[in-house]
Amino acid sequence: MYNLTIAELVRGLQSKAFSSVELTQHFLDRIAALNPDYNAVITVTADQALKAAIAADKRLAAGGAPALCGVPILHKDIFCTKGVRTSCGSKMLDNFIPPYNATVVENFEQAGAVVLGKTNMDEFAMGSSNETSFYGPVKNPWSTDCVPGGSSGGSAAAVAARLAPAATATDTGGSIRQPAALCGITGLKPTYGRVSRWGMIAFASSLDQAGPMARTAEDCALLLSCMASLDDKDSTSIDHKIDDYSASLNNSIKGLKIGVPSEYFSEGLDKGTEQAVRQALSDLEAQGAELVDISLPNSGLSVPAYYVIAPAEASANLSRFDGVKYGYRCEDPKDLQDLYSRTRAEGFGEEVQRRILIGTYCLSAGYYQAYYGKAQQVRQLIRQDFTQAFEQVDVILGPTCPSPAFKFGSKGDDPVAMYLEDIYTIATNLAGLPGMSVPCGMVDNKPVGLQIIGNYFDEALMLNVAHQYQQVTHWHNLAPEGIA
Ligand code: GLN
Repeated sequence: MYNLTIAELVRGLQSKAFSSVELTQHFLDRIAALNPDYNAVITVTADQALKAAIAADKRLAAGGAPALCGVPILHKDIFCTKGVRTSCGSKMLDNFIPPYNATVVENFEQAGAVVLGKTNMDEFAMGSSNETSFYGPVKNPWSTDCVPGGSSGGSAAAVAARLAPAATATDTGGSIRQPAALCGITGLKPTYGRVSRWGMIAFASSLDQAGPMARTAEDCALLLSCMASLDDKDSTSIDHKIDDYSASLNNSIKGLKIGVPSEYFSEGLDKGTEQAVRQALSDLEAQGAELVDISLPNSGLSVPAYYVIAPAEASANLSRFDGVKYGYRCEDPKDLQDLYSRTRAEGFGEEVQRRILIGTYCLSAGYYQAYYGKAQQVRQLIRQDFTQAFEQVDVILGPTCPSPAFKFGSKGDDPVAMYLEDIYTIATNLAGLPGMSVPCGMVDNKPVGLQIIGNYFDEALMLNVAHQYQQVTHWHNLAPEGIA
């Protein structure tokens, strides 16, 4: 059963080939047996899952249940789950049990999906390797001496290892697409504002966006249909028609204009990765799409702009963790100042502290204009690059990451090398555009991702392109050794 896609599971549940209770127990058993090898899941909610599965089976028996009713999923531990610890990968929130559900969690609950547990992640979603988690690193199922990517590495590894057919994730600078690429699965970051951020622990509020991770584009379409909603609890939620993402998957891509940015194929891109991505472009050309050379001239500025804006917003968002309201509190503080400083020094890991320091510095009175103000101007230029490109083309394609999964510790002491992991993904967050990653090849036995960037609210078209690509390629069907 673990090899079935969500689309297949939905058919199986609706035709009563198996029940949600059977399916749920099957995945709970897999998590119990295999998760110790990967550390992808940090909380298992077995009792609640089985209760939800019983309720889902009743709804299925009554008829007219929503598509995802009875389907087991995992949530990244950044989404607040009522009564279930939500740690955000941090010691700071190791004891935090939210009294409410995030809107994303609520949407899945309404649809009758079954939550198996919560996935490991980089602390406060800061990282590209999952090495910053308080709960220890996640191992890549394709090669357990390599990282799964981050920050949604737990979600990506869990889906790749078939511990669940899908997982939720978030992407501030690449955290859905990069781990999806490194773990050989499909992941989608929607347009900023498409999915509610309410109840999702904030990292950089103007960049954070939640999205689905699964094995196929068809499954991501089903999941996004459930995740996307207008939410008056989130002031950045956008009132834009929600497409039927599954309806257009089979549209022909004949005549589709694919932009290929020269900047995404320059120095720093691993040769094998480049070959796989170029092959994917030819495969799409063979299906009738037209390749158009384009330029995104300000691409090189995206990483520096992001590493001012994201830490600046993070420093403000994380100021709430002060040992007073909730979360970790240091032992025996001698006064208020000691309470604040020791709580934050003991509760936050090194990378999070680094970001808070950078962010606070960039926002300080004397430097605000020079750093934060400048970065916002650069952000505008990056947005303009895309607006101009989308006057000529329908989608933009390139690599998701510069290389396949790297070994643990290989970038650990060089934050800048780690930051360059997201060189191809960060610009879309700065522009608020949607992007996705689909498996497009193998290099040294490790998966490589093709990135598809769409225009604002063009998720349906991106999914259509990805689905058409997956009709003529087999990369998304490959499984790590010993898994399938
Ligand atoms: N790797 C990037 C960072 O560390 C992006 C993380 C993310 O998208 N959450 O900030």
